[in-house]
Amino acid sequence: MKRALIVGGGIGGQAAGIALRQQNIDVLITEIQPSFDVYGVGIIQQANALRALEELGVAQEAMRRGSPYNYVKMCTPSGEYITDVGTPPIDGFPSHNGISRRILHEILLEKALEMGVKYKMGASVQNIDNRKDGVSITFTDQTESDFDFVIAADGVFSVMRTMILGNYTPKYVGLSVWRYAFKRPKDLETGYMYMGKDTKVGLIPMTDDTIYMFLVSAEGADNPFIPLDELIPKFKKHLEPYTDEKVRSCIDQITDPNLVNYRPLETLMTPAPWYKNRVVFLGDAVHATIPQLGSGAALAIEDAVVLGKELGKSDNYEAIFSNYMERRHSRCKTIVDASSLVGQMEYEKSIGVDHSDAEIGKIMHEALSQLQQPI
Ligand SMILES: Cc1cc2nc3c(=O)[nH]c(=O)nc-3n(C[C@H](O)[C@H](O)[C@H](O)COP(=O)(O)OP(=O)(O)OC[C@H]3O[C@@H](n4cnc5c(N)ncnc54)[C@H](O)[C@@H]3O)c2cc1C
Repeated sequence: MKRALIVGGGIGGQAAGIALRQQNIDVLITEIQPSFDVYGVGIIQQANALRALEELGVAQEAMRRGSPYNYVKMCTPSGEYITDVGTPPIDGFPSHNGISRRILHEILLEKALEMGVKYKMGASVQNIDNRKDGVSITFTDQTESDFDFVIAADGVFSVMRTMILGNYTPKYVGLSVWRYAFKRPKDLETGYMYMGKDTKVGLIPMTDDTIYMFLVSAEGADNPFIPLDELIPKFKKHLEPYTDEKVRSCIDQITDPNLVNYRPLETLMTPAPWYKNRVVFLGDAVHATIPQLGSGAALAIEDAVVLGKELGKSDNYEAIFSNYMERRHSRCKTIVDASSLVGQMEYEKSIGVDHSDAEIGKIMHEALSQLQQPI
């Protein structure tokens, strides 16, 4: 039986664990955190993400514990209706599924455990001997082990990337996202997006009873640190122009600064190849997109599914990894590039450059349409 190590137990790492077990590969995931304390509020899964989750046997569970919807209502800050947007459903999967990030991670973890994935928590890779015929690892807990191959899924600030591929630094795009979870307003039947002058706000269903809000703002080119006691006042200040009833009904519920999830947005696209000898990369470690197209996790899950299938076809690692690259690189680059362009235009709007919402919408629509294609 082949033996694999996956570095990082986020969405991409868990998905890869399941995909490898489907090929009867023995899998150990090493996760640097002592326990899975999943960061974030909610996440949007588009139909292509659900299609990939179906390959892993968890799409139905994700929809049961999430909130599927088929279109997003675009509105002005005062709630006047502009239009409906959304990519078409794929293979019977809805256009979107809003879900708590913690629940999505739990679903993947439960499936991975059921399929026999093993875990080493609170540890990472200290030394690596990456040869053409296998990989020897010394972990940070000083244990040592040999593997046939390693998947690096350690996120946008990947240490594995620096060890194996070289120095690539994520780029801050001048924008940040604020997120907070709320009780679901009674009349919120689908996702909503409110287009402000310098900011935009989304209300995304997560369950029958809960939603999350995201607000995208330009915080300045120097990526300022915002102390805990300033999070709520700044967040509420950004929300002042949004007079729509649904948005206002949420604002009073913003009371705990520890629950304000503030995140500067960073992007990264590592050039090909995403592998060297017997170490291969997936997810944010090689292609981190800003959430303007809401597709980063979807791409990580697709990576895992494709890599799993290629591993099932051959024992020649060079062929496996190069076929995987062939199938993934340009698709991921399309999304990273389009997200970055949209982010750049949104940032420029905030400093007075004239970009229309229609122009931005067209770029988003064209890129998302490509994700409709099979993986
Ligand atoms: C604000 C925001 C909103 C987003 N919204 C969406 C959305 O709506 N839809 C969507 O599809 N995507 C969204 N994304 C993107 C999505 O979150 C990422 O693309 C996805 O989480 C990538 O998964 P990953 O497994 O590659 O990396 P991560 O989720 O970052 O997981 C990496 C894991 O590796 C662990 N790790 C790190 N270093 C080490 C190490 N040295 N050794 C061992 N373990 C390590 C980490 O603790 C973590 O568990 C959003 C991103 C942001 C920032």
